[in-house]
Amino acid sequence: MNSAVTPSADASVSNSTPKTVHGACPHDCPDTCAMRITVQDGRVIKIQGDPDHATTQGALCTKVSRYAERSYHPERVLTPLKRVGPKGKGQFVPVSWDEALSDIAGRLKSIAARDPEAILPYSYAGTMGLLQGESIAARFFNKLGASQLLRTICASAGGAALAATYGHKVGMRVEQFAFSQLIVIWGSNSIASNLHFWTLANQAKRQGAKLICIDPRKTETADKCHQHIALLPGTDGALALGLMHELISHGWLDQDYIDRHVDGWDGLRERALQWPPERVAEVCGISADEVRQLARDYGTTKPAAIRLNYGMQRVRGGGNAVRLVALLPCLTGAWREAAGGMLLSSSGFFAPYKNTAKLERPDLLAGRTPRTINMSTIGDDLLREASPEFGPKIEAVIVYNSNPVAVAPESGKVVAGFQREDLFTVVLEHFLTDTADQADYVLPATTQLEHLDVHTSYGHTTMLINEPAIRPQGQALPNTQIFRELAARMGFTEPCFADSDETLARQALVDDLSFDELRATGWLQLPIADAPFANGGFPTPNGKVQADAPGLGLPDYVPNYESRQSSPELARRYPLAMISPPARNFLNSSFVNVKSLRDIEGEPLLEMHGDDAAARGIQDGQVVRVFNERGTYRCRVALNPRARPGVVNGLGVWWRKLGLDGSNVNELTHQRLTDMGEAPTFYDCLVEVQADSLRAA
Ligand code: SF4
Repeated sequence: MNSAVTPSADASVSNSTPKTVHGACPHDCPDTCAMRITVQDGRVIKIQGDPDHATTQGALCTKVSRYAERSYHPERVLTPLKRVGPKGKGQFVPVSWDEALSDIAGRLKSIAARDPEAILPYSYAGTMGLLQGESIAARFFNKLGASQLLRTICASAGGAALAATYGHKVGMRVEQFAFSQLIVIWGSNSIASNLHFWTLANQAKRQGAKLICIDPRKTETADKCHQHIALLPGTDGALALGLMHELISHGWLDQDYIDRHVDGWDGLRERALQWPPERVAEVCGISADEVRQLARDYGTTKPAAIRLNYGMQRVRGGGNAVRLVALLPCLTGAWREAAGGMLLSSSGFFAPYKNTAKLERPDLLAGRTPRTINMSTIGDDLLREASPEFGPKIEAVIVYNSNPVAVAPESGKVVAGFQREDLFTVVLEHFLTDTADQADYVLPATTQLEHLDVHTSYGHTTMLINEPAIRPQGQALPNTQIFRELAARMGFTEPCFADSDETLARQALVDDLSFDELRATGWLQLPIADAPFANGGFPTPNGKVQADAPGLGLPDYVPNYESRQSSPELARRYPLAMISPPARNFLNSSFVNVKSLRDIEGEPLLEMHGDDAAARGIQDGQVVRVFNERGTYRCRVALNPRARPGVVNGLGVWWRKLGLDGSNVNELTHQRLTDMGEAPTFYDCLVEVQADSLRAA
């Protein structure tokens, strides 16, 4: 390693006696598990879930149980790399940190001298940690005056909907699902992506609770529920309105709770009465009896709980749909009981306990208001020329904690953008991902085992610490240290750029939440009541739920951009709706390169119903062309009941270079945004499928 650069993490000292440290899973998953990492002789010998943490209960998922395999992976990037071949070919040579950082700083200085907004940070939840996410990195880009990134790619439609309805991203305490009598699992394959909730739901099931899954796909979770309702993608808002219709018609309302705690009820009531079960059935592609029975179960069972997840908000009307579902427990008074209500995200509970401004230092903007680029339209934006409306052409992108070439929509355009010869790209990464392949420099970042961090959660209400368990591998550095080094070479002299990781960790917490206590115990439970909204008290200005939200009005069903209803001509050419949920053993695009997990998945798959396949002469296991006007994606087809008629499931998110023809399912998705939150609409996508005449079965 170059002597100018030293790791800042408190790397553990080699010791032949096994030592266990507190860890936290860094991945974009609501469970945010507490981990126990056992180290001997400077090497991790065991990773396990912490048995003392209330929701982790000693268990990690299959993916993260293999985290050591990921950290010690032979293909890990362990030195700075400089591109020597054509963009996208992944041809690099190792260089020293000093050479890489000095060259990068020089390039950024020269672009910033023309216009700092031509520089764009691109990051998301590759790690959810407060330090290795946006701390020194945010300070760096604020000081630079770079374009700001609107971080929308996963959850912003649902987040905006919760904020409009409840005032913040708040919901049930997850532990309470164990005591529910009815659990509606709505748009969530919990077994794959919310495992510790699923453990609690199973506990409730053993105690007699009914479990109902609402999802276009017959997921592994649907297999284990008492009932599965396979509605068409993007029709969840219509179903919620139909449930309201039935709650009203049968008198299953808690009028006292509504009167005390809901604003805008009269208008909502009038709207819901326009949605009888027959109309809902027609829109959702289910039977009217399914609507009636679901409403009866929901209206007459107590306590009744809804676990909503973000899949259903990835359509044009995603924000409105979340608003409508979030209103259901307010109409039945389900919030009165601890085991009733709804959970999409608990992240808003952390707002009073973390100090984002101290970490990210927006004051470093010094009055400047740089433009904002939406990460979900990166494909279009990388290809834009300078204009008065857009501002300067993007000349440099610094990517960290993200893999946009694989995960951003309409990836044909994303690839074309990153391949621009006049674009300077730096990627902080563990591996040569699809995005790293496009970089001018790849900088080796530490994994969660090698750095300090502090974590909040969006699925439970404890704050966790992640202690460094081992020294950084090779020449890897924490993101914090990489941005410190870059700041020094840019000539940024503010003392905040010298803050150590421990100083950052202390800054991350508000004063009355003790970092020392967090360090001693591994996690801290926030003081949230078991039934936080039993007596109203939502974090809105007047404490009431907002059915009629200021500036938005009442929620309504908003049809997909691409559907028979809204675009009949397009639907004639591309008659199948496609959703692209994650394959069970991947987490977004993470873990695709972990061979043991990829071996379980096999290869990129499209699930298709037998009737749709028969109509196209497609056999099980054949290679197929999935296409629309944006592109073509080749993969193998699996004919099974996980796909309902009229809908195909393109499991993601495979790295493009590990797919059959160097592409993935995002070749077909588009960049239009949701009704609220400016989020992508991955599951609002029409396609056609043909047997691939070039490929044998
Ligand atoms: S990915 Fe989720 S379930 Fe798996 S270890 Fe991490 S937080 Fe736990």
